[in-house]
Amino acid sequence: MSVGENLKKIKAKLPANITLIAVSKTKPVELIKEAYDAGQRDFGENYIQELEDKHKQLPADICWHAIGHLQSNKVKYIAPFVHLVHAVDSLKLLQEINKQALKNSRVIDCLLQIYIAQEETKFGFSFDECENLFQTDELKPLQNIRVVGFMGMATNTDNEIQIRKEFHSLKELFSKLSFLNPQLTILSMGMSSDYKIAIEEGSTMIRIGSSIFGERNYNKV
Ligand SMILES: *Cc1c(COP(=O)(O)O)cnc(C)c1O
Repeated sequence: MSVGENLKKIKAKLPANITLIAVSKTKPVELIKEAYDAGQRDFGENYIQELEDKHKQLPADICWHAIGHLQSNKVKYIAPFVHLVHAVDSLKLLQEINKQALKNSRVIDCLLQIYIAQEETKFGFSFDECENLFQTDELKPLQNIRVVGFMGMATNTDNEIQIRKEFHSLKELFSKLSFLNPQLTILSMGMSSDYKIAIEEGSTMIRIGSSIFGERNYNKV
């Protein structure tokens, strides 16, 4: 099936409140253009150099989402145009995004990545660290960022019960903190393999790569 057909099939079954991010990492601009021509405007990339290159080559009305682990020294390259940063995992990174946003006279929307998986490799705040951040005044001076929600990645497993439990726990944290902090409106969780569970558990934004663009060839990057 073509990219356009894949998109259509996924979107046909999505509840209206769900934002679909097409994750185009490692995929050529021609395929992104196909998705664009099919009406898709939100795209996610992991690698900063690639994100910059694609931003330059593709239409200006695309909303670019930086979804991967972000190093502080790379923020300056995407600060002029990035739409949403999904995987902020430290106060230090938030401060750097704030600094670069200020330089560009922008306010940059960010999601805090929350650690929900039972894997050593996943980055993010713990639930306690996240709650503490909202209880202290540490976010207040950061006038050029807006923390608008959370992002989480479930364990890479076939165990649906475990995946559901992890998404459910993040939704609970989100409900609790968004009650007190109404600017928290986005819950980014769910990828090709688990987005249906994520939606059932309260996701508002899903990040889909291989189900739209086909499997990735990791050797390419
Ligand atoms: C690659 C990636 C995705 C998309 O993964 P698929 O399994 O191809 O849908 C989503 N989120 C993040 C953070 C990713 O790195």
